[in-house]
Amino acid sequence: MKRLILNLLRQIHVVFRRRALPDRVAIYGHELGPEYRRHFKECIEHLLSLGYETVNPRQYVASEGPKKRLFISFDDNFRDWHDTLDMFDELGATCTFYVTSGVFANRSTIAEQRAFMERIRQPSDRETLTVGQLQEIAKRGHTIGCHTHTHPLLPDLPRDKWDREIAHSKEVLERLIGAEIQDFSFPFGMRRDFNSELEAYCRSLGFKTIATGISGQLYQKTCQPMRIHRTGLKSYISLSENIKNLQLDARIYGALFGRSVIG
Ligand SMILES: [Zn+2]
Repeated sequence: MKRLILNLLRQIHVVFRRRALPDRVAIYGHELGPEYRRHFKECIEHLLSLGYETVNPRQYVASEGPKKRLFISFDDNFRDWHDTLDMFDELGATCTFYVTSGVFANRSTIAEQRAFMERIRQPSDRETLTVGQLQEIAKRGHTIGCHTHTHPLLPDLPRDKWDREIAHSKEVLERLIGAEIQDFSFPFGMRRDFNSELEAYCRSLGFKTIATGISGQLYQKTCQPMRIHRTGLKSYISLSENIKNLQLDARIYGALFGRSVIG
């Protein structure tokens, strides 16, 4: 039922609220298995052929920079990110990987990794990155962002746990890759999953950007560094349908409900 309603909403937006591709396009995904990888490759190739240049989150929001910017990102530590590095090299694309610092395959128990996969609603046998793989991703020119320590629902978290989930996570990642972590994406990604108190806390830690997962918001008049809205790329629809999703102007829906207009 929920999917039917979302499909209907998306269709209404395709018919009435579809515009030309915006100059700033932010896309995100999760697992990068072979089928999903193919979709990402097609989409990135298409956008690069239109003149977009890949950028990190800070470059995405900067006042100076390329006219057409493509911010590609992934959340949730999937092992197959590492298998996709050659593909990104071939494309000449750099990405941002938002990492949950407490679930590395070689630094956490199987039970912790399974609990994490269940929390993010993925099959519990999915493998997470090792620390060595994370370090190689960073060495190959990609940006590493923070996505908390264990992926909790942040607004439900008592204030005394924020340091453990966010400040500590930032420090762990900085130690592992030997560079400052300046970018954050909050777990679950919809408006209800974050708030202004958490934003102020993240600013105080030195984060420069915060990414959401609210699709259909790429037409904001001014791009907010603390709310970079990314549109999810889907593995079960064609390139042309994914491109349509990037063209949807769902600002009214987003302002009313704070959620994605696509399922
Ligand atoms: Zn996540």
